[in-house]
Amino acid sequence: MFSDNQIERYSRHILLKQLGTTGQQKLCDGRVLIVGAGGLGSPAALYCAAAGVGTIGIIDYDRVELSNLQRQIIHAEGDIGRLKAESAADSIRAINADVCVQAYTEKFAVENARLIVREYDFVIDGTDNFGSKFLVNDACVHEGKPFSHAGVLQFSGQTLTVVPGKSACYRCVFEDLPPKDAVPSCSQAGVLSSVVGILGSIQATEALKYLAQIGELLTDCILTFDALSMEFRKITVRRNPECLACGSNGKWPLLYGDHCN
Ligand SMILES: [Zn+2]
Repeated sequence: MFSDNQIERYSRHILLKQLGTTGQQKLCDGRVLIVGAGGLGSPAALYCAAAGVGTIGIIDYDRVELSNLQRQIIHAEGDIGRLKAESAADSIRAINADVCVQAYTEKFAVENARLIVREYDFVIDGTDNFGSKFLVNDACVHEGKPFSHAGVLQFSGQTLTVVPGKSACYRCVFEDLPPKDAVPSCSQAGVLSSVVGILGSIQATEALKYLAQIGELLTDCILTFDALSMEFRKITVRRNPECLACGSNGKWPLLYGDHCN
């Protein structure tokens, strides 16, 4: 049952025919884990909090730096030097005191990945390196947890939603980590501030749709976005029966290079 305050807070959701109070209740009962409190994780966490997702977990072991503020909108100038997970948790609480926030200040690693993922209904991959992205994929696949992948670089991004056992996983499409230094990172090649906002907002949208059980998820399809031409494209992808994560001989863990998130 919602209080008068909650009915007012979520009134624009409740007005939506496909969502209503039933859908809002599902959001309030939902648990979303956000891996990385950076450019993608910031908008994803803020929208999940505003939307009333009941429990939000956020894992990041890094600290806020001045160069993060150009795009990591969950942190402010006063947060420089603080642990990102704690800074993000405070911002979430400031937006919506109803949300239960779990801040993990450790590294998302092989040792803890599956234990943490297991506690949630949906995972948002807001990491910034290939090792972490494959680790999120493999942990979610082996725990049977749906998740949203996204990657950004310069003026473009891509995103894909994975429902383990049902749709293509990140490893079905990309198989394994690219050779070291084959693809530059945002810290090497830069990224336009709002591009991470667009991709992170799409990820939050997928989480909300999944929790409320509405619409169609972005599965078996990679959505790419180019800000300079303002073009969105969808590329169909398929499950790989030989996939090292979700195939019949899927393994855990695999190798993740010298990753950090
Ligand atoms: Zn796969």
